[in-house]
Amino acid sequence: MNCKHLIIGAGPAALAAAQAIRTNDKSAEITLVTREETLPYSPAVLPYLLSQELTETELFSKGQELLAALDVKLIRGKEVTTLLHETSEVRFSDGTRAAYDKLLIASGARPQVPPIEHLAPDQIYTFRTYADFARLQKTLEKKQTIAIYGAGLVAVEAAEKLCEAGHKVIIIARSSLLRKYFSSNHVSVLEQAFQKHGATILANTTLNAVKLTGNQLELVINSGDKLVVDRLIVATGVAANLVANTEIPVVEGGLQVNHHMQTNLPNVYAAGDVAAAPSFFDGRHAPCPILPEAVFQGTVAGANMAGKKMEYAGWIPGNYLRCFDENLFSIGLTGPQAEAGYQTLEKQSGNTSLKLLFQDEYLVGSEALNLKNIHPGVFLNLIRNRIPVRQYQELLLAKPRETACWIMLRQGKQKAV
Ligand SMILES: Cc1cc2nc3c(=O)[nH]c(=O)nc-3n(C[C@H](O)[C@H](O)[C@H](O)COP(=O)(O)OP(=O)(O)OC[C@H]3O[C@@H](n4cnc5c(N)ncnc54)[C@H](O)[C@@H]3O)c2cc1C
Repeated sequence: MNCKHLIIGAGPAALAAAQAIRTNDKSAEITLVTREETLPYSPAVLPYLLSQELTETELFSKGQELLAALDVKLIRGKEVTTLLHETSEVRFSDGTRAAYDKLLIASGARPQVPPIEHLAPDQIYTFRTYADFARLQKTLEKKQTIAIYGAGLVAVEAAEKLCEAGHKVIIIARSSLLRKYFSSNHVSVLEQAFQKHGATILANTTLNAVKLTGNQLELVINSGDKLVVDRLIVATGVAANLVANTEIPVVEGGLQVNHHMQTNLPNVYAAGDVAAAPSFFDGRHAPCPILPEAVFQGTVAGANMAGKKMEYAGWIPGNYLRCFDENLFSIGLTGPQAEAGYQTLEKQSGNTSLKLLFQDEYLVGSEALNLKNIHPGVFLNLIRNRIPVRQYQELLLAKPRETACWIMLRQGKQKAV
């Protein structure tokens, strides 16, 4: 009998899993179920719809092609509410059920909106799904003042695209832009780029209250000052979409999984933003809500579901960002906290800079500004493969791409011998 794989979700983790299942089992029945009405898509590219660098047709075309190529069934507009693992079934919000042999929970995450006095749900916009984009887009015909509350990737990417579209953007950041990932000199380059494009950044600011005044919103910030804006987008972080169950341990807000993306329940896996997988660096279980890890985790889960043993090495934080004319990336242990704990080497030249962080013989983090000819994956490889590179640190700093490639090649040859 063909194995029935049921996947909750139709995002990047779900699609990667479907691909891995099909690679390893040609006859498996694969079904994706999503509560959205759309074809599968990657939320990470939604900001490009705002700037019209991407069309809606392009957003959905890859998912549609994959479904057809992999012979995967898609059920849209159905929300899984409960996992009934004793009978290997899930229950939907309409009361119906679906059975599985293997289940993957790839239900992603949703915006987490902090409590703000007088804030009614219809007064705010979030930016996670296509439906969020469509709701916001309807209001953007006339140029307006838009406040974005938050300073993570979603806030920064949406802010950039809205500035480029000619809106007046105010970013309200509880600390500073992308503070967890980039050190202060890189953060200030970003801030300057926003200011050059007419945006205002209110750092170390919290939003205390919101009042509707006619068609506008009056925002009260922690200094007591008031701002009048047309629109408020809240992008202060995400929380995992936990499908109700009482038996999978929830760690740091995500469903705990092992290195095979298996939960504690038989035949139940989790991957992507919903999963609390082990960290590459210290094995700590937590969600790592970024696209590359969702794809890695989905691939590992899918392979294991189809009976091919595959191990996940653990999540490594990473951010790749093109913001106006600035290109930044951070991989691994970076940002202000990391700098205190690791040996750091840094090179700055004109508008470019590179920072490498080491622990003993190993590279553990890297931050770069405007080094467009270096793919961040080069550093990710050195970190993920635990290649001892410290002896080449000066060379790596001076000629990063060539040195990293040479080290990888040499390592490959040594392994092959
Ligand atoms: C605007 C934006 C920009 C981003 N930019 C970047 C970036 O530059 N770099 C980066 O690394 N990451 C970025 N991300 C994060 C990245 O998109 C996520 O890490 C990634 O989408 C996670 O994939 P996932 O498959 O785990 O979850 P999702 O993509 O969230 O997919 C979850 C799926 O599950 C479905 N679902 C949820 N609950 C249920 C339920 N109960 N029943 C049925 N279906 C359900 C949803 O409808 C959806 O289909 C960005 C995200 C956003 C929103």
